[in-house]
Amino acid sequence: MFKLTYTDILNEIKNKTGLSEEDINSRVNKKLALLSDLISKEGAAHIIANELGVKLFPEYSDKKLKIKGLVPGLNFINIDAKVLSVFEVRLFKNEKREGKIASMIIGDETGISRLVIWDTKLIELIESGKIKDNDTISIKNAYCKENNNGLELHLGSKGGIIVNPENVVINEIKHSRIVNQKQIKDLKENEIADINGTIVQVFEPRFYTACPECNKKAEMTNGVFLCNEHGSVLARETPIVNFFLDDGTDNIRVVCFREIANKVLNNNFAKIRENPSEFDIIKNDILGRQVKVTGRVNKNAMFDRLELTAQNIEELDPKQLIEELNKEN
Ligand SMILES: [Zn+2]
Repeated sequence: MFKLTYTDILNEIKNKTGLSEEDINSRVNKKLALLSDLISKEGAAHIIANELGVKLFPEYSDKKLKIKGLVPGLNFINIDAKVLSVFEVRLFKNEKREGKIASMIIGDETGISRLVIWDTKLIELIESGKIKDNDTISIKNAYCKENNNGLELHLGSKGGIIVNPENVVINEIKHSRIVNQKQIKDLKENEIADINGTIVQVFEPRFYTACPECNKKAEMTNGVFLCNEHGSVLARETPIVNFFLDDGTDNIRVVCFREIANKVLNNNFAKIRENPSEFDIIKNDILGRQVKVTGRVNKNAMFDRLELTAQNIEELDPKQLIEELNKEN
């Protein structure tokens, strides 16, 4: 698909929407700025085309992408990667169909991603042990989707895999997931995003009793804790912490559960559980901290506002922050 040049895509959008060239260029530039250096100008133009509902002509291509260049909605992707971890083939069943599904984590020099395989013939390659950890694979005609863990590659019936192709070398793997880098003002419901910001308010942690199997809330019924899925369980106490993250464009409430909540509390969960007044002291260390939050944007229906459910939080050191800001300019 990346055979299309920027001008090709621009013309296609222009012809199908009637938007002016300046308008399309400015949308593309805004998207580029938002996603920092995660994508090419062509990639940004592909996203704009998707957003506007413009179908770019499907075309097979020999050009290879790197994992960093993945964009949700992109089709006909060819990628060389190293297999980092093959998962067991599972059975799935939904309203439409049932069958087998295989998945693995793959990586290249620019990042890692999950590869999901729906094609029966390709799944056989895994079941027969022809694809193993540490193999190099050439992936053909994959498509990219966004899921809970970031961007994923999917292989359907048109997809292909060549195992350990000649003349393909994958150097050192960069172990980072490819996630949208966003500003708070641009967040949209249901997307996964990385946001750099400052913790400007933090609320007293609450605790709930959770099923040790699935971490969902377990309710006390007739003297035992019941999980909807796992029945009677030995529930354990689990913290929830909410804070406000501000990135200069806006602020958003971030909801953290379990280990991530404990991380926000500087691992003081047990201490605060024992003596809630400890929170007032610990709070002072939390406020003003600069963090990178990876999370899913959810709509809180009761308050009609967007919130972020954190999947990961990393401390940002100021040096790294400056580097990232420089990249954007
Ligand atoms: Zn459970």
